[in-house]
Amino acid sequence: MSSPPGRRARLSSSGTGRSSSEASEELRRRLLGLIEGNRVMIFSKSYCPHSTRVKELFSSLGVQFKVLELDQVDDGASVQEMLSEITNQRTVPNIFVNKVHVGGCDRTFQAHQSGLLQKLLQEDSAYDYDLIVIGGGSGGLACAQEAATLGKKVMVLDFVVPSPQGTSWGLGGTCVNVGCVPKKLMHQAALLGQALNDSRKFGWECSQQVKHNWEAMTEAIQNHIGSLNWGHRLSLREKSVVYINAYGKFVEHHKIRATNRRGQETCHTAAKFVIATGERPRYLGIPGDKEYCITSDDLFSLPYCPGKTLVVGASYVALECAGFLSGLGLDVTVMVRSILLRGFDQEMAERVGSYMEQHGVKFLRKFIPVTVQQLEKGSPGKLKVVAKSTEGPETIEGIYNTVLLAIGRDSCTRKMGLEKIGVKVNEKSGKIPVNDVEQTNVPYIYAVGDILEGKLELAPVAIQAGRLLARRLFGGRLEKCDYINVPTTVFTPLEYGCCGLSEEKAIEMYKKEHLEVYHTLFWPLEWTVAGRDNNTCYAKIICNKFDNNAGGLRPLLPSLSSSVMPWHYQR
Ligand code: FAD
Ligand code: NAP
Repeated sequence: MSSPPGRRARLSSSGTGRSSSEASEELRRRLLGLIEGNRVMIFSKSYCPHSTRVKELFSSLGVQFKVLELDQVDDGASVQEMLSEITNQRTVPNIFVNKVHVGGCDRTFQAHQSGLLQKLLQEDSAYDYDLIVIGGGSGGLACAQEAATLGKKVMVLDFVVPSPQGTSWGLGGTCVNVGCVPKKLMHQAALLGQALNDSRKFGWECSQQVKHNWEAMTEAIQNHIGSLNWGHRLSLREKSVVYINAYGKFVEHHKIRATNRRGQETCHTAAKFVIATGERPRYLGIPGDKEYCITSDDLFSLPYCPGKTLVVGASYVALECAGFLSGLGLDVTVMVRSILLRGFDQEMAERVGSYMEQHGVKFLRKFIPVTVQQLEKGSPGKLKVVAKSTEGPETIEGIYNTVLLAIGRDSCTRKMGLEKIGVKVNEKSGKIPVNDVEQTNVPYIYAVGDILEGKLELAPVAIQAGRLLARRLFGGRLEKCDYINVPTTVFTPLEYGCCGLSEEKAIEMYKKEHLEVYHTLFWPLEWTVAGRDNNTCYAKIICNKFDNNAGGLRPLLPSLSSSVMPWHYQR
C-alpha cells in the first residue's frame, strides 16, 4: 500500500554521536530492509509524473506496493545517494520487484509489455531455486558456493561440448582443465629443464642423459586435474548446491532446460540466474583447420608428444604454449599476424619475443595460414601448412607434426536461448554487456567472467566478481568488483608481470611530456652462478609527473629482488 502523502518522515534514525560511515551503514540496512520486506518497493518523488505512471501501473494490476517519497523525508538526498550506490541509478522512480532491481519508469513498462514484470511478481517460492548458475567454471562456482553459504537454494549447470578433436573434461571450467592450471604446470615442467641445466653449475653431477617424457608429464598433470574436478564436486555437495552435468538453455523467463550427454532433458526454474559460460577457442575458418589442427583445449591432454609444432597467434595463449613446448625441447615456430601481445606494453612484448627467439623459438612474422593439409596420419602425423603474407602476394609453406591454433576465444552465449528472454548480447563479439553490478538488461539475469563485454578475462577476476555478486544479491552487501589495475602475468620463458597502463596507453591518456619512465636492466642472483644472460631481465615504472610521480610497475623478470635492482636510469 502506498504511504500516506503529505507526512514528513525521516528514514534513518537521528541518533547523534555516530560516525558518518555508521550512519550510512544504517541507512543502507534500512533501505535493503525495505527492498527485501516488500514485494514491490517504489522509491519515488511525489511530484514526479514518471513515478505517478508507475504507481498507476501497479494499481491497475491490482498489486500492492510500498512507496518512499524522497521529497517527503528529511534525508531524501542521502537515500537517493545510497540508492545510486546500490543500483547505479540516481533517478526516480527506482523500482524493485521481489528483491530484483527493475529500474526506472521505462524499464518497468518494457518489462510489463514483455511479460517479465508478471513473472517477477510471482513469489520467489514459486520457483525451484533462488539461483541457477549456468557454467561451472571460475566465476560460476565462486558465485554458487557463496550464495549457498548465505543460505540460498542453488543449482549449477555445467556442460563441456567436446572440441572438434573430441576432447572434453570435468567440472571446474577453463582455468582448472584447459587453462591456468595445466598451462602453469607445463610451464613449470619447462622451467625444471632449465633448472637441470643450471644445476650443473651449482655442483650437481647428472651422469644420465636427461630427456623429457611427454606422456609421463601429461598423465601426472591430468591426474592432478582429476583431483581438482573431484574437489569441486565435493565442495558443491558439502554446500548443498545441486549440480547437474547438463547444457543449459533458456526456454522462457525464469525457466531453463538442461540437456545431459544422453540427450535427457529436465526443466528448472529460479528467481535469479547467473550466466558464467566462458569462452572456447576460435578456429581460422580455412580448409583443414577443424580436421587437423588442435587448440589449447586439446594440447594439455594430448596423449602423444606434439613434435615439431606451428603455433598460430601471438597473444597470451600462443606465446605461453610456444614457450613451454620449446622449453620441453620441441621445434617450435610461431606465426604472427601483426604484433606480439596486443594490448600489452610493446617494448616489454618485444623483449618477451626476443628472449624466446634467442632460446630457439622461430617467428614467422606477418603471415597467416590459408590451408592445412594432412600428409601423413599418426600420433603425431605430418601436416603441410600454406601461409600468405599480410603485406603482399608472397606465400610460404612448411611441414609440421602439429598445428596449434591460439587465435582468440569466442564467448559461449549464442546457443543458450538468450534471445528467448531478451538478454542483450553484442552481436559481433558475442559478449554480454552488464552494468557495474554485473546485471544484464534483463533485471533478474546477471553475468560474470570471460563473457562480459569490456572486462578482463582472468580467473581471479571471474572468482572475485562471482563471489561479490552473490554477497550483493543475497548477503546485503554493496561491494562491487573492481576491474581496474588488475595485475597479470604472462608465463612465457621470461615471465612478464605487469599492473597498470602500458607505455602506449599512458602516452595516449596523459601525453608523453607528462610522463617519467624509470627503467632498469638487472641480473637476478640465481642467474649469476648459472651463467645465464646478464642483460635480459628488465623492469620499468611509468609515472605521471603531475600525480606525484604515481605510476604502474611493468617488470619483466623471473624474480624481482630490490637489493639487486637500483632504479637509477631515467629517460
Ligand atoms: P570458464 O572457466 O570457461 O567456465 C565456463 C563453464 O561453463 C565451462 O565449463 C563451460 O563448458 C560451461 N558452459 C558453457 N556453456 C554452457 C551451457 N550453456 N550450459 C552449461 N554449461 C556451460 N587466467 C588467469 O588468470 N591466469 C592464467 O594463467 C590463465 N591462463 C590461461 C591459459 C589458457 C590456455 C586459457 C585458455 C585461459 C587462461 N586464463 C588464465 C583465463 C581463465 O582460464 C579464464 O579467465 C577463466 O577460466 C574464466 O572463467 P569463467 O567462469 O568466465 O568461465
Ligand atoms: P587474444 O588475446 O584474443 O589474442 C588472439 C591472438 O590471435 C592475437 O595475437 C591475434 O592477432 C591472433 N589472431 C586472431 N585472429 C587471427 C587470424 N585469423 N589469423 C592469425 N592470427 C590471428 O586471445 P588469447 O591469447 O586466446 O587469450 C584470450 C584471453 O585469455 C586473454 O585476453 C587473457 O585475458 C586470457 N589468458 C590469460 C592468461 C594469463 O593470465 N597468463 C593466459 C592465457 C589467456 P592480432 O594481434 O593481429 O589481432
